Amino acid sequence: MQCDKCGETAVMHAAYSGLHLCEGHFRRSVETRIRRRIREDGMLSDGPTPEDPETWLVGLSGGKDSVVLTQVLEETFEDDPRIELVALTIHEGIEGYRDASLQACLELTDALSIEHEVVAYDEEYGVEMDAVAEEDPLGMAPCAYCGVFRRDALSRYADEYGADKLLTGHNLDDEAQTAMMNLLSGDVRQIAKHFDASLGSFDDREIDDDPFVPRAKPLRDVPEKEVALYAHLRDLPAHTAECPHASEAYRGEIQEHIHELEDGHPGTRHSIMSGYEKLAELAAETYRDDGTGGSENECDRCGAPTKSEVCRKCELVDAVGGELP
Ligand code: SF4
Ligand code: ZN
Repeated sequence: MQCDKCGETAVMHAAYSGLHLCEGHFRRSVETRIRRRIREDGMLSDGPTPEDPETWLVGLSGGKDSVVLTQVLEETFEDDPRIELVALTIHEGIEGYRDASLQACLELTDALSIEHEVVAYDEEYGVEMDAVAEEDPLGMAPCAYCGVFRRDALSRYADEYGADKLLTGHNLDDEAQTAMMNLLSGDVRQIAKHFDASLGSFDDREIDDDPFVPRAKPLRDVPEKEVALYAHLRDLPAHTAECPHASEAYRGEIQEHIHELEDGHPGTRHSIMSGYEKLAELAAETYRDDGTGGSENECDRCGAPTKSEVCRKCELVDAVGGELP
């Protein structure tokens, strides 16, 4: 097969666009989508200037998604005085898994010369995920604990670090799965939250009212397979092993269904996302207008915003016998 743009040998075919692309054109198309998403989300138009630059904190796990994100961001902004990048890796305390992916993170941040921080559950919560998975005091999947801790660590660290934005490597498949899971759960408030947390244009958001650092997912237009191919073609130091506690069975089921739909109807993931984003925006507006959107309390223990007296993270830290610093 030949590249539809230049006639060179194609390295990929995207059924949803019908395009065959050679290595050069494929790489450029991935980079273009990432940069366009950054522009269209208003991440550059809402403030950063050479005199008043912004710090963007990038969640770097060492997997292909966050490695590609970090690489493309650095190449995009290395000479841009408006943006300072800092990579943050969360160390969950999972033997044989996180140490290897941490190596990938170090290799990448060394090669790119960007600042790199590591936050360990051990130090933040007094527990490691291996022990939590083993004991499992609440009878939940390990990821249910881990996800709460990760979100907390990311936003708290972003806040402490004075980061203006928090960027994560979620790709199109991740986002379409989350969208379907939220739609199928029937929890419209969750959908509205998703808009406020990550989908809204930065221009439209009431950032001053938001206790969290605004989030962005610049890879969310790029399918998972293309992220993997991009990392492979550029020989980026991505770690491929799967976490031994990976247990999101429902997400796996949804992923299979979406793959089947995508095979039979190319473009399904894109249309799931465009419909979902519109719905999320409408839902967010509704909750904001009727005043039931904000009005959060502060956690008695840690001060994090919550609807209850004690936030979910503090509940879980208690349950697993951990300790806040
Ligand atoms: Fe944590 Fe689950 Fe991810 Fe493993 S797969 S790092 S337990 S969220
Ligand atoms: Zn708390």
